[in-house]
Amino acid sequence: MSRLLVVSNRVNVPRKRQKPQAGGMAVALAGALAECGGIWFGWNGRVVEAEAMPESPEFTEVDGIGYATTPLTAMEHERYYAGFANSVLWPLCHFMPGRMQYRREDRAGYAAVNQRFARQIAPLLGGDELIWVHDYHLAPLAAELRALGVQQPIGFFLHIPFPSFGLLRAMPDWRQWLETLAHFDLITLQTPEDRRALETALVYGLGGRVVDDGIRLHDRTVRTAARPVGVEVDQLAATAAETAHSRRVQRLVSSLGQRELMIGVERLDYSKGLPNRFDAYEHLLETRRQRHGRTVFMQIASPSREDIDAYARLQETLESKAGHINGRYADFDWVPVRYLHKTFARGSLLGFYRTARVGLVTPLRDGMNLVAKEFVAAQDPEDPGVLVLSELAGAAAELDAAIQVNPNDIEGMAEAMEEALSMPLNERRDRWRSQITVLRANSLDQWWRGCLRDLEVTRPAP
Ligand code: UDP
Repeated sequence: MSRLLVVSNRVNVPRKRQKPQAGGMAVALAGALAECGGIWFGWNGRVVEAEAMPESPEFTEVDGIGYATTPLTAMEHERYYAGFANSVLWPLCHFMPGRMQYRREDRAGYAAVNQRFARQIAPLLGGDELIWVHDYHLAPLAAELRALGVQQPIGFFLHIPFPSFGLLRAMPDWRQWLETLAHFDLITLQTPEDRRALETALVYGLGGRVVDDGIRLHDRTVRTAARPVGVEVDQLAATAAETAHSRRVQRLVSSLGQRELMIGVERLDYSKGLPNRFDAYEHLLETRRQRHGRTVFMQIASPSREDIDAYARLQETLESKAGHINGRYADFDWVPVRYLHKTFARGSLLGFYRTARVGLVTPLRDGMNLVAKEFVAAQDPEDPGVLVLSELAGAAAELDAAIQVNPNDIEGMAEAMEEALSMPLNERRDRWRSQITVLRANSLDQWWRGCLRDLEVTRPAP
């Protein structure tokens, strides 16, 4: 396969000889780079004053992969990252136009960072590589690279949902955003539904025409594809089985006693539907006395985007809901909710999943949701837990053997929790086997190979 230049908003440069993490997107991209050779460009997570911004990216090589990273200025961070990407595109693509906070200066800041990134990427290119760009922060990047004369195939993978055409139009300036997005040779989405939404927008919004492998627009073809991000089932299962014996997981097990664990794990983000989940658990305790003293709901909500107001407010809401449920139902020997506002290493989480009887993954909207897949991969095949999954997560298209719920139906979610907690062993095994079969068929390795094969095809014949 051709040499790669991968671009994503955030790049974590691994320390030399760091122990590889268990699974995860970043590990998959590093795997692709290790096999094909190449460079990974993106933001290094630092924010600096404008005067301290280096002219060119900082270059490091670790285990044969080049990492070219750059900081953001405080203004870029505010306008491009916190502003347009995370306060306009993120809520819009997650079906929540009411949460958008559109400011023209943020839109301009987003365009300017994409332009600066393109200027810094162009000199890194050698001639025949594939350029693979990730996520909503970088939708204008292909247009900017083409303006600099870059000829290589450029592909885009959108990790979050693509909004329906009606929703897209709620964003001022949607037409220009979509026009720049259409400069990619290939746009890959998580699900067939997202792909259809993109194609519809290109047809009705820009006058494109449907052809076999995408959309014909302004005398060129924008190819489209749907390829769900997967997980490395065997690797995750092995880590889960190993960490199940760790001291940390054993402490969790002994703290539970005979009680059954329901677990939720996500970044603290309003798209994840956490207040609804807490309400559903309260409804379960309200309507089913037999669950008192026998069920523990542990919610891990790792800190995220804390400098954006909506995220700080959500943290207060959840603390208050957890306090309310515990205040109402806790007893001298039982606390119904464990709410943890912290981040855990993926290895520990896998051990926790294996201990849990139920995994709750109930976002209001989600591009894929890897936690859902990791939960399934981590289960003990002899005694698997049950996944309760929102039908609005991308993963629902593959995991139809999960108990699927609508996260806006609080009573329905409480019923699903009860069904999951009381599911007989043979049904748990049947459902798990069917889910693990799908996950094996759509592995992370096949995902990146498939995406790059599709991109290679867009290269014009010599
Ligand atoms: N994760 C983690 N530690 C935490 C919380 C989450 O390592 O404390 C990982 C989790 O295992 C998963 C990823 O973060 O791989 C979250 O991906 P997902 O697609 O579920 O949601 P996103 O955060 O990308 O919206």
